[in-house]
Amino acid sequence: MDSTVGAPQGVNPAHLLKGQKALVTGANSGIGKATAIGLGRAGADVVVNYVADQESAEAVVREITSFGVRAAAYEADVSQEDQVVAMVERMVREFGTIDIMVANAGLQRDAPFTEMTLAQWQKVLDVNLTGQFLCAREATKEFLRRGVVPEVSRAAGKIICMSSVHQIIPWAGHVNYASSKGGVQMMMETLAQELAPQKIRVNAVAPGAIRTPINRDAWETEQAREDLLKLIPYDRIGDPEDIANAVVALASDLLDYVVGATLYVDGGMTLFPGFATGG
Ligand code: NAD
Repeated sequence: MDSTVGAPQGVNPAHLLKGQKALVTGANSGIGKATAIGLGRAGADVVVNYVADQESAEAVVREITSFGVRAAAYEADVSQEDQVVAMVERMVREFGTIDIMVANAGLQRDAPFTEMTLAQWQKVLDVNLTGQFLCAREATKEFLRRGVVPEVSRAAGKIICMSSVHQIIPWAGHVNYASSKGGVQMMMETLAQELAPQKIRVNAVAPGAIRTPINRDAWETEQAREDLLKLIPYDRIGDPEDIANAVVALASDLLDYVVGATLYVDGGMTLFPGFATGG
């Protein structure tokens, strides 16, 4: 397909992020993988973070380098401060700097409320919220050190938090996950307010139902798929590339004036679909 179809006049999508260095956490699976590939296709050099399964991370690296940009796989658990610090330091050493941090890594540990263990609660908060805090903090230190390089981007740096429609939709049986994403929303907005004067843009993407391993139960069987589609006015389950495209746009100067926003990419899931026929 012609890669310029649908692009604003004069904008070549393959050059949108040319010369920029991006790090995507949890980039060897699902949304993170598609995002890392999307950023590479848009011209960025990409660090593919993973916590397990090095081979799949290396496969993502190979796909990205096929676009003629640089990529490397870095192992780090985003919930561990020393590992995040070391990961960003290594990126600055090996790639020169970081321009885009996509804090994507996340997981679920579901249970009815009274059966949810403290370990399940803590694990989800540690990865989904503290992990994003640590990644954003370490990237910001480098953004501030380097400042704006106008030939590269109008901003000194971009942080994109992977949230969820569950930052605003309560989710029974998933109190740890919904709380972590509610936290991501307020963290993102607070950081956006605090860092905008330094020309750092902080935003979030909030996916609806995207076909990835995290929610296999919700789309694997015909019945589950039917039930899920009732919640999606646009009548299709999302693909990881739907999210990747949103991240690429948010990271690029096309959306330079977007600060502290959550881009819902959810086929209308947050539009109270139950009210389409009731209410
Ligand atoms: P996924 O399970 O395919 O990917 C999650 C990635 O995070 C994996 O690569 C996993 O190894 C990594 N990860 C987990 N713990 C980590 C840690 N401690 N350190 C580093 N990496 C770690 O699931 P996904 O659907 O691609 O999820 C990606 C993000 O999108 C998550 O933040 C998730 O909450 C969010 N999200 C997904 C959906 C969806 O429908 N799939 C909807 C809303 C939000």
